[in-house]
Amino acid sequence: MDFETYDYDVLVIGAGGAGLRAAIEASAAGVKVGLICKSLLGKAHTVMAEGGVAAALANVDDRDNWKVHFADTMRGGQYVNNWRMAELHAREAPDRVRELEAWGAVFDRTSDGRILQRNFGGHRYPRLAHVGDRTGLELIRTLQDYGVHRGIAVHMEFTVTRLLTADGRVVGAVGYERERGRFKVFSATATVLATGGAGRAYKITSNSWEGTGDGHALAYQVGAELMDMEFIQFHPTGMIWPPSVQGILVTEGVRGEGGILLNKEGRRFMFDDIPEAYRKQTADNEEEGWRYTQGDKDARRPPELLTRDHVARCIMREVKAGRGSPHGGVFLDIAWIKKKLPDAETHIKRKLPSMYHQFKELADIDITKEPMEVGPTTHYIMGGVRVNADTQMSTVPGLFAAGECAAGINGANRLGGNSLSDLLVFGKRAGEYAAAFARDNRRAAINQAEVRAAADEALKPFAAGSQGENPYAIQAALQDMMQSHVGIVRSEQEMREALQELGTLKGRAARAGVTGNRDYNPGWHTAIDLGSLLTVSEAITRSAIERKESRGGHFREDYPERIPQFGKINIVTRKAADGSMQVVRVPIPEMPPALKHVIEDQR
Ligand SMILES: Cc1cc2nc3c(=O)[nH]c(=O)nc-3n(C[C@H](O)[C@H](O)[C@H](O)COP(=O)(O)OP(=O)(O)OC[C@H]3O[C@@H](n4cnc5c(N)ncnc54)[C@H](O)[C@@H]3O)c2cc1C
Repeated sequence: MDFETYDYDVLVIGAGGAGLRAAIEASAAGVKVGLICKSLLGKAHTVMAEGGVAAALANVDDRDNWKVHFADTMRGGQYVNNWRMAELHAREAPDRVRELEAWGAVFDRTSDGRILQRNFGGHRYPRLAHVGDRTGLELIRTLQDYGVHRGIAVHMEFTVTRLLTADGRVVGAVGYERERGRFKVFSATATVLATGGAGRAYKITSNSWEGTGDGHALAYQVGAELMDMEFIQFHPTGMIWPPSVQGILVTEGVRGEGGILLNKEGRRFMFDDIPEAYRKQTADNEEEGWRYTQGDKDARRPPELLTRDHVARCIMREVKAGRGSPHGGVFLDIAWIKKKLPDAETHIKRKLPSMYHQFKELADIDITKEPMEVGPTTHYIMGGVRVNADTQMSTVPGLFAAGECAAGINGANRLGGNSLSDLLVFGKRAGEYAAAFARDNRRAAINQAEVRAAADEALKPFAAGSQGENPYAIQAALQDMMQSHVGIVRSEQEMREALQELGTLKGRAARAGVTGNRDYNPGWHTAIDLGSLLTVSEAITRSAIERKESRGGHFREDYPERIPQFGKINIVTRKAADGSMQVVRVPIPEMPPALKHVIEDQR
């Protein structure tokens, strides 16, 4: 077999916010850039982001600055974040947002014409620059419009299945066109992974079909390390009814605009359990909470805006105690603000247009008049490729990672809005340092045997044909198992069972069979996705077993407390020489005194 081959200095895999920003930066450095994505350009998962991009612009509250943002991010991540990434992120996010505005992003405005910012969970001050509840769409549109003029070569609807290596370096990638099934080879001096998340490993998720953890698995297969994989964010508010829309996100922006959580008795249960670390910053009565959402600088935030891990667990507690809503969640009510605002209906439709339409069209609920039913949904993976904070290079030379598929900035729990800013800050850095790597190193020859092996592997399901296992059935079994065994509440016994089940599922995936030809064959695509889903699921499970405590998105009923010694380590998974998955505890480097002081000052 001979494959069409393309040569680039920098190859970017993924065209969400992180990939587009990396490609723009690399091309600005004057190198030849290729950009690959599984979907059409402009359709990446980032387009779904709703609430906003976090940056300490201080447009709405002048007490905000990078130090407060840094301290909020570290507290939200329960101090196992890569502090250098959290620092760079907080310092650089405002410039990245202003740059986006200069490139044409039309943000909502303050009355004096500056970028408007809204409240979000875990952020001390209103910090999220937004465009109604369609911020991701504007971010992608702007980056795409700006990027297409830079001569970046784009390969759409193309799935990368393997990274290629030579002399311990990543030197390119191989994969297939989803439309025709033809294989192509990309030779590159530097490769940036920007493949997003892995929510599709779970049954109930807000993630798009692209979120199968491909970048995590691609990196792992070539020897890169994964970090923090046990930390999965279960967003507290996903739709739960009707079943066909289960998991679709209900933005935190609803709570930022004054939405409240109620159990079936009508009780505002979030006031019942306020963690000690947040007590001083949280309102102790409903009136104060409302004033906070309306911009009163003397008021403290309502408990609905505590971090996502905590809110999700409080919802689970209500449901388990039999105080849930009819379909197994709780009520989220924004309609109640009509008691406070004369023009509440117009206000809700203007501030939350997508939520209004989402509920009207999918659940026949008018959110300006009635409460929504919501429950936790798998939303984001804090874990990912372990990278150098400044350069975003992984532990394998020539391989970089940015955005949701990289680890570090969020620690045990991500604050809402910190992903879009992460994409901009670290997408830029990855592009910049990948271009520098490409200039400093020579293109290496591609090993054709490696390419053929990758193509043979990808084509195996056709050989099994109708005698093979149904890939959809394997995927569904995996998602059910991860949801029930490695979900919001975890235990050693269930996770050990999960590991056994993963072994069985791996065997079934090796026997997966598909029929038909290679022209847009969704069964085949599903069979290929299984490899990534199984790898990330195993990394999540093994890391979660290793962390014998509860912290952020990782809650263990057999170890319900936070244990100080686990606050000093990250959990890293990597491929051992015998092909098995190795789990190691890696100490977190000591934080410099200046940053420690910043955290102390903000307590
Ligand atoms: C409904 C929803 C709302 C959200 N709202 C917010 C918000 O308001 N604020 C915020 O900060 N965060 C939000 N998030 C999180 C945020 O949207 C994501 O974390 C972020 O968009 C991820 O961006 P990314 O660039 O890393 O990857 P993505 O946008 O997921 O892009 C991944 C890219 O990689 C490509 N790709 C993947 N695998 C392969 C492969 N094998 N070969 C080739 N290409 C591949 C995909 O096609 C895609 O182009 C939200 C998430 C969801 C689900």
